[in-house]
Amino acid sequence: MTLNLYNTLTRRVEPFLPLAPPRVTLYTCGPTVYNYAHIGNFRTFLFEDLLRRYLEAQGFDVLHIMNLTDVDDRTIKAAAAAGVPLAQHTEPFVRAFFEDRDYLRIRPAQVYPRATQYIAPMVELVLGLLERGLAYRGEDGVYFAIGKFPTYGCLSQVERRELKTGARVASDEYGKEDARDFALWKFADQTDEKAGAAWDAPFGRGRPGWHLECSAMSLQEIRRFGVRTLDIHAGAVDLIFPHHENEIAQSEGVTGQPFARYWLHGEFLLIQGTKMSKRFGNILTVRDLKEEGVDPAAFRMLAFSTHYRQQLSYTDDGLEAAAEGVRRLGEFRGRLVEAVGRTGGRADGDHRPPDRPSGIPRAVAELETAFRTAMDDDLNAPQALGAVFTFVRAVNRELDRGPLAPAQVGVALEAFDRVMVVVDVLPTAADVDAELRAWAEVRIREREAARKARDFARADAIRAELLARGVELEDTPGGTRWRRKRGMEGDGGR
Ligand SMILES: [Zn+2]
Repeated sequence: MTLNLYNTLTRRVEPFLPLAPPRVTLYTCGPTVYNYAHIGNFRTFLFEDLLRRYLEAQGFDVLHIMNLTDVDDRTIKAAAAAGVPLAQHTEPFVRAFFEDRDYLRIRPAQVYPRATQYIAPMVELVLGLLERGLAYRGEDGVYFAIGKFPTYGCLSQVERRELKTGARVASDEYGKEDARDFALWKFADQTDEKAGAAWDAPFGRGRPGWHLECSAMSLQEIRRFGVRTLDIHAGAVDLIFPHHENEIAQSEGVTGQPFARYWLHGEFLLIQGTKMSKRFGNILTVRDLKEEGVDPAAFRMLAFSTHYRQQLSYTDDGLEAAAEGVRRLGEFRGRLVEAVGRTGGRADGDHRPPDRPSGIPRAVAELETAFRTAMDDDLNAPQALGAVFTFVRAVNRELDRGPLAPAQVGVALEAFDRVMVVVDVLPTAADVDAELRAWAEVRIREREAARKARDFARADAIRAELLARGVELEDTPGGTRWRRKRGMEGDGGR
């Protein structure tokens, strides 16, 4: 079985073959830190988190690079409106982005290059393009000449006869119908200077265009491997044109090599049928979710319940259904943990539940096959989650039939945890339970050691300490069992 991914470049689902396995270089376009990222942005980041986690679960060694756009038209405009220097305006939004990322349990990238700290490689890239005759100086900046780059349009499939060669666009954002020479470098005006967004360059003092930034930063970061081709470049669908098309032109124009082998694009999150956007005033941030007490696992579940290449309509009902699924998984895991811990692992024959034949091994095998088959098929998370719930039902049925040997349940728990590492949709309270359980087990062992050493005062002190956190002990001939005191559930302090 191999991972297959839909490649926007070829419009096909293809087997994923990185340049130098097990290494995978993954570049994902990061937030523009002029404001809070909204949950539509985070839907994209969650799809990328799923991709990253699945690659890692398959044994790939992923170098994940995510840029922070801290200088572009929008950041400068926002800083000017706030009347502060660029860096002062963007810094709090960088911090907020990291907080929101952690809240949603998104694995941090290894590198977060900031555009303002990569000006030298950007200047170098522009020089390279000028040298090759692919760029020229206009009155307000340096432009890329799309007419000189024969494969321009290969990613977005923009019609070449629609290209307005010679005509220019200075703005970072424009539509397909406006495909024309675009700004690599914009000569500094007063607003730029005032914001501290201007740098000297041999071709004129100014600042980078947004598209140039990603090309320069990604190439700079993968240089450590001596390569100039990314394995995967990902982002939201609205970046295909012009952003990614322009990144290809700039990068390949200089390196003469494919810029990325696989281009992956995530679809939008819609609210009331429209794309979330400042323009429509329907912005929802991760901060809003947090304030409403939404479990991050529920938002993850919602995001993964629709395939990343399909639009997802955000509704309160949808989020509630996702939260219900998350609760069920949390309860299920709690049940497994309890069943495994029933004997404290040190039981004699009297206390060990019978090692009867059960459907657990089969359920585990089916989960593993179905989960992997689904994920290998272009990260079909909805189908993978379906396999998880099928597993939950099958194992619950087995447990309903009567107690099972802890070792058998342990196999189910391990298999369940392995897939949870990829999707990470257990309720936040369940994390508290896991932490409590680990802590309690350590304390119980310490108490046993104290009792063996006949240090009963210490043993009693540990028992009291456990009780204070809601853990009741029962000493049996087979060892010490523990359970959570009734009424203490969910007191994890969050
Ligand atoms: Zn980008």
